[in-house]
Amino acid sequence: MAQLPTGKPILPITPTQDEHGTPTVCRCCGRIAMGIGVGFKDRKDTDPGYLCQGCIQAVKDLSLMNRLSLFELQALDEGVDAVGEYIATHGVTDLQYYDDLMQRMLVKNAWEGCIRGIRKALKESVPF
Ligand SMILES: [Zn+2]
Repeated sequence: MAQLPTGKPILPITPTQDEHGTPTVCRCCGRIAMGIGVGFKDRKDTDPGYLCQGCIQAVKDLSLMNRLSLFELQALDEGVDAVGEYIATHGVTDLQYYDDLMQRMLVKNAWEGCIRGIRKALKESVPF
Protein backbone atom coordinates (compact mmCIF):
# COMPACT_ATOMS: atom_id res chain seq x y z
CA MET A 1 0.00 0.00 0.00
CA ALA A 2 1.15 3.52 -0.75
CA GLN A 3 2.61 5.42 2.15
CA LEU A 4 2.75 9.04 3.22
CA PRO A 5 6.15 10.73 3.55
CA THR A 6 5.90 10.01 7.29
CA GLY A 7 5.97 6.28 6.54
CA LYS A 8 2.36 5.74 7.56
CA PRO A 9 0.04 3.97 5.08
CA ILE A 10 -2.46 6.19 3.25
CA LEU A 11 -5.40 4.02 4.34
CA PRO A 12 -7.11 3.73 6.71
CA ILE A 13 -7.32 7.41 7.50
CA THR A 14 -6.96 7.68 11.24
CA PRO A 15 -7.70 9.03 13.76
CA THR A 16 -11.35 9.47 12.88
CA GLN A 17 -12.24 11.26 16.11
CA ASP A 18 -10.98 14.27 18.03
CA GLU A 19 -9.68 14.25 21.60
CA HIS A 20 -13.26 14.29 22.91
CA GLY A 21 -14.38 11.27 20.87
CA THR A 22 -16.36 13.33 18.37
CA PRO A 23 -16.29 11.97 14.79
CA THR A 24 -14.08 14.02 12.46
CA VAL A 25 -13.08 12.31 9.20
CA CYS A 26 -14.13 9.11 7.44
CA ARG A 27 -11.79 6.15 7.88
CA CYS A 28 -12.15 5.22 4.20
CA CYS A 29 -12.28 8.46 2.22
CA GLY A 30 -11.49 11.36 4.58
CA ARG A 31 -14.80 13.17 4.15
CA ILE A 32 -16.77 14.41 7.17
CA ALA A 33 -17.59 11.45 9.41
CA MET A 34 -20.93 10.60 11.00
CA GLY A 35 -21.44 8.85 14.32
CA ILE A 36 -21.23 5.32 12.95
CA GLY A 37 -17.91 3.50 12.84
CA VAL A 38 -16.61 0.15 11.71
CA GLY A 39 -15.47 -0.64 15.23
CA PHE A 40 -12.17 -1.46 16.86
CA LYS A 41 -9.76 -3.86 15.15
CA ASP A 42 -8.47 -5.26 18.43
CA ARG A 43 -8.16 -4.43 22.13
CA LYS A 44 -5.31 -1.98 21.53
CA ASP A 45 -7.25 -0.07 18.87
CA THR A 46 -8.58 3.23 20.25
CA ASP A 47 -10.15 4.51 17.05
CA PRO A 48 -13.78 3.53 16.30
CA GLY A 49 -13.22 4.02 12.55
CA TYR A 50 -16.00 6.48 11.92
CA LEU A 51 -17.42 6.62 8.38
CA CYS A 52 -19.00 9.36 6.27
CA GLN A 53 -22.57 9.22 5.03
CA GLY A 54 -21.50 8.12 1.54
CA CYS A 55 -19.39 5.24 2.81
CA ILE A 56 -22.13 4.16 5.24
CA GLN A 57 -24.52 3.97 2.30
CA ALA A 58 -21.94 2.24 0.12
CA VAL A 59 -21.34 -0.43 2.77
CA LYS A 60 -24.96 -1.45 2.28
CA ASP A 61 -24.13 -2.32 -1.32
CA LEU A 62 -20.47 -3.14 -1.82
CA SER A 63 -20.98 -3.06 -5.56
CA LEU A 64 -21.09 0.73 -5.20
CA MET A 65 -17.51 0.65 -3.91
CA ASN A 66 -16.20 0.18 -7.43
CA ARG A 67 -12.86 1.30 -8.75
CA LEU A 68 -12.20 4.63 -10.34
CA SER A 69 -13.54 4.83 -13.85
CA LEU A 70 -11.27 5.16 -16.87
CA PHE A 71 -12.09 8.86 -16.96
CA GLU A 72 -11.17 9.30 -13.30
CA LEU A 73 -7.90 7.46 -13.79
CA GLN A 74 -7.05 9.82 -16.65
CA ALA A 75 -8.00 12.70 -14.35
CA LEU A 76 -5.48 11.50 -11.77
CA ASP A 77 -2.76 11.91 -14.36
CA GLU A 78 -3.82 15.52 -14.86
CA GLY A 79 -3.72 16.01 -11.09
CA VAL A 80 -0.20 14.61 -10.95
CA ASP A 81 0.86 16.90 -13.78
CA ALA A 82 -0.67 19.90 -12.00
CA VAL A 83 1.21 19.08 -8.80
CA GLY A 84 4.42 18.64 -10.76
CA GLU A 85 3.97 22.03 -12.39
CA TYR A 86 3.28 23.67 -9.02
CA ILE A 87 6.38 22.13 -7.48
CA ALA A 88 8.48 23.08 -10.50
CA THR A 89 7.22 26.67 -10.28
CA HIS A 90 8.35 27.00 -6.68
CA GLY A 91 11.46 24.85 -6.97
CA VAL A 92 10.87 23.29 -3.56
CA THR A 93 10.53 19.51 -3.73
CA ASP A 94 10.58 18.76 0.01
CA LEU A 95 7.09 19.29 1.42
CA GLN A 96 8.42 19.96 4.91
CA TYR A 97 9.47 23.42 3.69
CA TYR A 98 5.98 24.29 2.50
CA ASP A 99 4.03 26.71 4.69
CA ASP A 100 0.26 26.33 5.16
CA LEU A 101 -0.59 28.40 2.11
CA MET A 102 1.78 26.48 -0.15
CA GLN A 103 0.41 23.16 1.10
CA ARG A 104 -3.13 24.25 0.38
CA MET A 105 -2.20 25.62 -3.02
CA LEU A 106 -0.47 22.34 -3.86
CA VAL A 107 -3.62 20.36 -3.01
CA LYS A 108 -5.77 22.93 -4.80
CA ASN A 109 -3.67 22.46 -7.93
CA ALA A 110 -4.08 18.69 -7.66
CA TRP A 111 -7.82 19.03 -7.16
CA GLU A 112 -8.26 21.43 -10.05
CA GLY A 113 -5.99 19.28 -12.19
CA CYS A 114 -8.25 16.29 -11.57
CA ILE A 115 -11.31 18.35 -12.43
CA ARG A 116 -9.67 19.47 -15.66
CA GLY A 117 -8.72 15.87 -16.30
CA ILE A 118 -12.29 14.65 -15.89
CA ARG A 119 -13.54 17.29 -18.31
CA LYS A 120 -10.77 16.51 -20.79
CA ALA A 121 -11.29 12.75 -20.57
CA LEU A 122 -15.03 13.10 -21.08
CA LYS A 123 -14.58 15.52 -23.97
CA GLU A 124 -12.08 13.25 -25.73
CA SER A 125 -13.75 9.93 -25.05
CA VAL A 126 -17.51 10.41 -25.13
CA PRO A 127 -18.88 10.43 -28.68
CA PHE A 128 -21.71 12.89 -28.01
ZN1 LIG B 1 -16.22 7.98 3.51
